[in-house]
Amino acid sequence: MFVLGAGASASHRSANTPLGKDLVWDYHRDCAHLLRDIGGKPDQTQENVDFSKFSKFILLAASLYAELAWLPGEWQNRGWKVLDMHGRLLKKHFVDEMLDLLRKEDNEEGARLVKHLIFEHIAEASFNAPNTLYKRFAKEIVKPKPPGSISIISLNFDCMLHEDLDTDLYYDYLIDFDWIDHSRAESYRHSNPIALIKLNGSLEWGMCEGCGRLHLYYPFMHRTFYEGKVCANRKCAGIVTPFIRVPHDRHGPNMNALRDVAKDHLRAADRVTVVGYSFPGYDKHIIELFQDSLDTNARIEVVDKCRNDQKEKQTDYLNKKYTELFKRSPEIETLDGFGDYLDNQAKQAYTQLTGTERDKR
Ligand SMILES: [Zn+2]
Repeated sequence: MFVLGAGASASHRSANTPLGKDLVWDYHRDCAHLLRDIGGKPDQTQENVDFSKFSKFILLAASLYAELAWLPGEWQNRGWKVLDMHGRLLKKHFVDEMLDLLRKEDNEEGARLVKHLIFEHIAEASFNAPNTLYKRFAKEIVKPKPPGSISIISLNFDCMLHEDLDTDLYYDYLIDFDWIDHSRAESYRHSNPIALIKLNGSLEWGMCEGCGRLHLYYPFMHRTFYEGKVCANRKCAGIVTPFIRVPHDRHGPNMNALRDVAKDHLRAADRVTVVGYSFPGYDKHIIELFQDSLDTNARIEVVDKCRNDQKEKQTDYLNKKYTELFKRSPEIETLDGFGDYLDNQAKQAYTQLTGTERDKR
């Protein structure tokens, strides 16, 4: 069993982090284009159109937090500057906290805006992304295993890990879709699919706001794809919005069924490899899921990334955290990141292979 968190997706840009300080707040930095120069002055006209939702978000943030009252002025007069919020935000300003606050205030419109921007930000950042590590993971780790012997839990919304015709590898989300885009239907779950359980939903899943039907689209999502999707059931014709779940969201019946599927897979796992996921406190429902289902004998392996001089500290932290949460320390840690883990696995596979050949001789 593999568990993939933000750290697994963040191989090229930080913006894939599903939650955290960068999400939405780094939207402009990740998505800005160069401005045209008109007589020595920056022309923001097009950008203001492209970023109209973000402008609303800036106003919303300023209205929620008195200490950010200066923000709309700076955004308005940014000129050539790219809005960089690095080091200027507190934990309470992160979008997951913001969503919590909006829900408490019954500000449904504000919550929708934030979720819309989460979608746009992740879609833009992972659009056409060179997902080299996922490709290697699929080819070198998943593909050689016998069908049914491996399953994946992903906490990421991005759909960078998806079926690959080159390696003849297919996935099954183990959730019932009422409608599948016909171009996706050709490859989705094509043969011997690998279980890919996405507990926070996925950018290319959509749910009808009218009837609750679940739709599956093609796994390439541009940020403009949030809107404009209509229920496949003509009688309903409701609006379909991306099916992504963030902490503090209420969980519908679809998600509860998927959690049960995840439990079964976790119970059956004898080894769990956690890549780039830290079981943060706000992911209470994920932590509980693992506490309820993790087999007492299952070995835990952690793949994380930290600086060389931080490794000792990080090991202590991981031992403490896992002992607290799951009553055991991780057996193996790789603190050089996902790429290094893949390198090590490849080396081990090679040694085993040459060893077997030597034995044969
Ligand atoms: Zn519908």
